[in-house]
Amino acid sequence: MLSLIAQLIERGHAYVAGGEVLFDTASMPDYGELSKRNLDEQQAGARIAVDAHKKNPGDFVLWKLSTPEEPGWESPWGRGRPGWHIECSAMSAAYLGEVFDIHGGGLDLIFPHHENEIAQSRCAHGTKVMANVWMHNGFLQVEGQKMSKSLGNFYSIHELLETKTFGGRTWPGEVLRLAMLMTHYREPIDFSVRKLEEAENTLRKWKRAADLASSAAKELPADVVGALSDDLATYTAFQRLTQLAGEAIEFGGSGENAPAASLKAALAFLGFDVALPRWMRKRSRRR
Ligand SMILES: [Zn+2]
Repeated sequence: MLSLIAQLIERGHAYVAGGEVLFDTASMPDYGELSKRNLDEQQAGARIAVDAHKKNPGDFVLWKLSTPEEPGWESPWGRGRPGWHIECSAMSAAYLGEVFDIHGGGLDLIFPHHENEIAQSRCAHGTKVMANVWMHNGFLQVEGQKMSKSLGNFYSIHELLETKTFGGRTWPGEVLRLAMLMTHYREPIDFSVRKLEEAENTLRKWKRAADLASSAAKELPADVVGALSDDLATYTAFQRLTQLAGEAIEFGGSGENAPAASLKAALAFLGFDVALPRWMRKRSRRR
């Protein structure tokens, strides 16, 4: 974090003022690109009193001096602590490199957190992008309510997989997974017993249909791959699986059941609990 901040100062993207090191938003012409905000809008919208030492109201803290009682670490700018965003830029550069493929996070983090991560990383390293793709997921609710420890409706997937019951029973991992993926990741998702039951029934139907094929197809259904390649449109992919299941059941148990074989391959590929075909095992080992 310290070397990243030093680099930002050296490149003219940060300045020291009022006991803080601040990022100079005006030094980055396309600051605000991710959240589609421009500097004027941010200034007009700033309701909080502007700190007098800031060049611009949107300038944000990289390093803040600590009083003797506050936690702090030695730095070239005095004993202090990092701002809210800098650790993510430092960690991602250390573990993933200056530019990496996918950065995810909740919708509520786009501004200011991710915007500022981008500003720090790109300006410190002199790169055109920080991550090639940004994926932001919608909010999660439980039975129509915000999930929170105080409401007593806080569940981690890990707990649900181990022992914790939801709606009076435990649920297999693949049912939990399908229930989550039935909503597009950018949309708000309501985690409910009704949804889990729907996922369990759907999965049972798919598997019954897939069992009509003796072995999985040698290729994945193109439209399933197409849907997943289009911003991870899981819901569209699942619609196709349900269609294939219908065709497979209609075809029945005699002869080569092509839709069932396609369905079997797709289910294995999506990680549902069916045996992986040999060609897929080879491919996953190579990765
Ligand atoms: Zn972060």
